[in-house]
Amino acid sequence: MCEQCLDENGKFSPKNLFYKDIVKKVGREEEGIRYKFREIVKCQGCLKCELSCPEGAIKPVKLEN
Ligand code: SF4
Repeated sequence: MCEQCLDENGKFSPKNLFYKDIVKKVGREEEGIRYKFREIVKCQGCLKCELSCPEGAIKPVKLEN
């Protein structure tokens, strides 16, 4: 929860695809980070987010057709 991925300067996520929301964690809900899957077409595939997260918490997945 360092929130670097929420920085809107574009260095982390050029299209600002991360946002803060309530997430479920092992039987409880708390603030967390979500990805804007509805806007996934904006993803450029640069992988800056994966490389920049200090906790290695972002793992790209390949979507199958
Ligand atoms: S996903 Fe990574 S960059 Fe984003 S808040 Fe969590 S630790 Fe920080």
